[in-house]
Amino acid sequence: MHSKTLYKAIMLLVVVVPFLATVLAIYLLWARAVNWPDLALLATLYSLIALGVTIGYHRMLTHRSFRPHPVVKLVLLVLGSMSLEGSALSWAATHIKHHAHSDREGDPHSPIEGFFHAHMGWLFRESMADPNVYCRNLVKDPIVVFVSRTFLLWVALSLVIPFLIGGWTGLLWGGLVRIFLTHHVTWSVNSVCHTFGKREFETNDRSHNEWLVGLLGFGEGWHNNHHAFPRSAFHGLHWWQFDLSGYIIWTLERLGLAREVYRVSPVSLSRRSTHKQKSAVTVPATPVPVEEVENSQVDKVLI
Ligand SMILES: [Zn+2]
Ligand SMILES: [Zn+2]
Repeated sequence: MHSKTLYKAIMLLVVVVPFLATVLAIYLLWARAVNWPDLALLATLYSLIALGVTIGYHRMLTHRSFRPHPVVKLVLLVLGSMSLEGSALSWAATHIKHHAHSDREGDPHSPIEGFFHAHMGWLFRESMADPNVYCRNLVKDPIVVFVSRTFLLWVALSLVIPFLIGGWTGLLWGGLVRIFLTHHVTWSVNSVCHTFGKREFETNDRSHNEWLVGLLGFGEGWHNNHHAFPRSAFHGLHWWQFDLSGYIIWTLERLGLAREVYRVSPVSLSRRSTHKQKSAVTVPATPVPVEEVENSQVDKVLI
């Protein structure tokens, strides 16, 4: 009971403090106390840390979309940790649970329980998944375990670095405002992309492609594509679907820093595509009982 209250208090702090800091930041902007170096710091740290989540936590760690060089893996996981979205292990476990039960009972953050719940309400419910159930392979990975165990160190560094570079306003913009933006863009994938947008593929969930989240989330907004082909390193599947994370994985491959990059073949792409885009929500097919998914090979949801 006591730990539950503590958990909720910490969650409230993590969510509310950056929000209040953003309001303060806007006030300071109007008062002309913000300068270009602060905004440059915000843009740089936002980009690096968001890519740590999209490429590192999501595509590399959770979906095994490519095999990275160990140094690349370490750097990406450290950057992902700096987003304050939980340790690498708990992020991966929760996300695999989402794919295993998408928009059904057991999904940690589905809008079927309300938009706010999908966006951030779920964080207050202690609905995190157990890594020993959902990603047993990662629990034995020394790099993943090391970065997860030292999670608080990376959280501290993500605030100390902007402070050392830009002082108090650097901490405000490069630290707290950056956390606020990273959080809401990531959470929008769970809420907005399971509610609004277009569907190109029939999937057993409510995933949609939403261009704005695609842009801000460096490709993560092409979420219907992602649910149709979870293991693909590229979420943008057409030339016009901007996918910065995918372009960077492609570059890492060219540099020899990423191997076995998983791609969707043109044949399976055209086979799955409905050719006409739909905005209507497709009712999920026959639900799979929670226990059944948990007892089956979790790998199935990743392919
Ligand atoms: Zn989803
Ligand atoms: Zn995913």
